[in-house]
Amino acid sequence: MSFQSFIPPHRTLMGPGPSDINPRVLSALARPTIGHLDPLFVGMMDELKQLLQYAFQTDNTFTIAVSAPGSAGMEACFVNLLEPGDKVIVCINGVFGTRMHENVVRCGAEAVVVEDDWGRAVSPEKLEDALKAHPDAKFVAFVHAETSTGALSDAKTLCALAKQYGCLTIVDAVTSLGGVELRVDDWGIDAIYSGSQKCLSCVPGLSPVSFSQAAVDTIKNRKTPIQSWFLDQSLVMGYWSGEGKRSYHHTAPVNSLYALHEALVILHSEGLENSWDRHRQQHQQLAKGFAEMGLDFIVPEKERLPQLNSVWIPSGIDDAKVRSYLLNHYNLEIGAGLGNFAGKAWRVGLMGYAARNENVALCLAALADGLTQK
Ligand SMILES: *Cc1c(COP(=O)(O)O)cnc(C)c1O
Repeated sequence: MSFQSFIPPHRTLMGPGPSDINPRVLSALARPTIGHLDPLFVGMMDELKQLLQYAFQTDNTFTIAVSAPGSAGMEACFVNLLEPGDKVIVCINGVFGTRMHENVVRCGAEAVVVEDDWGRAVSPEKLEDALKAHPDAKFVAFVHAETSTGALSDAKTLCALAKQYGCLTIVDAVTSLGGVELRVDDWGIDAIYSGSQKCLSCVPGLSPVSFSQAAVDTIKNRKTPIQSWFLDQSLVMGYWSGEGKRSYHHTAPVNSLYALHEALVILHSEGLENSWDRHRQQHQQLAKGFAEMGLDFIVPEKERLPQLNSVWIPSGIDDAKVRSYLLNHYNLEIGAGLGNFAGKAWRVGLMGYAARNENVALCLAALADGLTQK
C-alpha cells in the first residue's frame, strides 16, 4: 500500500469557521520550529500577550491563548471559576449557550437558565429578573455572538447588570473577537474566551482567554482543587508569565502560535475599529444582495451579527444539494443550520479575511446560480 501527501483544494471559507486565512498567516506556520522555552520564542509569547490584550481591549495580566480550540477556552473559564454548589445564571439563545449550561452542570454548580428564542439577542430584562430572583448567584454567563443563529447580544448592558447585582461575568467571544465591538475592561467582563479560527482568521486550535483580577482572585481563593490538570490556569500562568523563570507545563503549539501572532499583527496594523467597520460594511453589501435574491434573515436587523449571516432556506430548495453545488462548482463553503436550525437555515460567514468585496461578490453570484439548480 502506498500513501500520498494530502493536498487540500483551495476553498473559500464562508461558513461559521474556520474562516479564510490570510496567506501571511499560513506562511508564518511554515517557519522553522524552535524550542518552546527558547528565549526568542518566549519573547514572541510575551508579544502575543500584548497583542491579545489589544484585541480584547484589556489590561488584564492574565491574557493568554489556551493550547486547544474555543471549546477548551470555554471549559477553562468554567472549571477554574466554578466550585460545586455555586449558583450561575446562564443565558441560552442558541447552541453555544446550551454548551455553557452543560459546563456549569458538569462543574457541579447550580444553573439558573434564562432562555431567549433562537435568533434573538439575550434579553437584559429577563436577566435582571433572574438576578433579582437569585440574589445568591455568583456568576452570569452568556454568548456575545451566537454563531448558531447569528444573533449579537448587548454584552455591555448584560455585564453592567451582572455587576450591579454583584456577579462575575463569563463571556463567550469566540465569534465576536475582531468582528464586532468588544471592550473587556470598559464593559466589566471577568472571564472571556475566544477562538483563533473565526474573525482572527487564524488556523483552528487555539483559544485566547483573559481573566480579570477579580476572576484571578476567585481562582486563588478556591476551596476545592480545579478538577482539570491541563486547564488549571494557576499552573498555566506559570508557563505564560514566569518572567525569565518560565516553567514547563505543556509543549506550546509552537508554529500555531506563530500563526496567531501574525494574525494579531495584521489585526493591530489594520486597527480594531477599522476591522469592526469592515465587517459591518461587507455585511451590508451581502444583506443587500440577499434582499435582491429574496433571502430572509433570521435575526431582526438590530440584533444581527455582521460576521455571521443566517438566512432561511427558501421553500422547495434542497439544503444539502445547494451547499454541495457551491462546494463543487465554486469551491465555496457556506454553513448549514445547527441544532434547531438544521436543514432550515444557511449561515454565511464574513469572518476576518473573508470579510472582503471579492468574497461577497463570489458568494452572491454562486448562491444565485445554486438556487436555480433544482
Ligand atoms: C466556534 C464556537 C465555539 C467553539 O469553538 P471551537 O474552536 O470549535 O471549539 C464556541 N462558541 C462559539 C460562539 C463559537 O462560534
